[in-house]
Amino acid sequence: MREQRINEETARLANSIGFGTEDCICGGFPDCICGDDVRITQSLLQKILRDSHGVHVQVLFQNMELQYYFLEISKDDGTCLYDWQKDFNAILEKSHQDIEGDYIDDNLFAKYVFEDGFGYYIYEEALEAGLQKAIRTIKEK
Ligand SMILES: [Zn+2]
Repeated sequence: MREQRINEETARLANSIGFGTEDCICGGFPDCICGDDVRITQSLLQKILRDSHGVHVQVLFQNMELQYYFLEISKDDGTCLYDWQKDFNAILEKSHQDIEGDYIDDNLFAKYVFEDGFGYYIYEEALEAGLQKAIRTIKEK
């Protein structure tokens, strides 16, 4: 079992704030064949964002009838950098059934959770998205 390396898009973003790749380890002659191996791992980037930027990317698991991972991104001081509650509420809103009472259409809810990029089936997919969101937030400042 190995740790997941960040993908190309994330590496590009990470490079723009000074991180993302490690040194070439193959010598680079005649061409570097390190490929994906120079990209840092997700957990290292997560640590860099935490240690160097005070940004915490957390992947949470929703263990209800519908299981999925979702994101919480915050600053050291507790400031929320990604308003997941707002996205979640929007999905609830869209998933209302047109019947009496306050019922959610479970199928619609499940559809929007994943389609809208709120929830993820796979932990690493959620983390990757969270790392990108976090870097974009850091760059906006
Ligand atoms: Zn190389």
